[in-house]
Amino acid sequence: MSDIIRTGGCQCGAVRYLAEGELGFPHLCHCRMCQKAAGNYFMPLAGVKWESFRLTRGEPAWFRSSGTVRRGFCEKCGTPLFYDGSSDHISVTLGSLDDPESVKPRLQTNLARKMSWFGELDRLEHDAAMDMPPEEEKKVAAGNRQHPDHDTEVWPQEEHP
Ligand SMILES: [Zn+2]
Ligand SMILES: [Zn+2]
Repeated sequence: MSDIIRTGGCQCGAVRYLAEGELGFPHLCHCRMCQKAAGNYFMPLAGVKWESFRLTRGEPAWFRSSGTVRRGFCEKCGTPLFYDGSSDHISVTLGSLDDPESVKPRLQTNLARKMSWFGELDRLEHDAAMDMPPEEEKKVAAGNRQHPDHDTEVWPQEEHP
């Protein structure tokens, strides 16, 4: 048993999971399959042994992206959640963790497909005018249907039409 418990889930909250112990091999994968599956430039992943992993709400849908790999996602909201490479562990997407700041990627893989300008991303100019003003943030919060970054007893907490 480990003291470290990490929880996470999809945006709508239909699928929630728990991982016990330190996540292994936190990395960014730049392969083309991960790009597509994430709808992003890379997929941030880290592994947990199957016996230290469990779903705490719902079931993911799976897409078999190749012979030995299937990718789990929420079929209600589409959030990419899992990578199952038919081994002794399952990988979770690091952005789906309730505390994504807590796991720092240590490696990257499949650099051949890495965006050529990836290293420039952090130097993009900040368009402060497009930041959300506090009053707008309140409006968004009032209609927010994203599951909070912690487990809940009941979800959705109210039915939305
Ligand atoms: Zn969902
Ligand atoms: Zn990949």
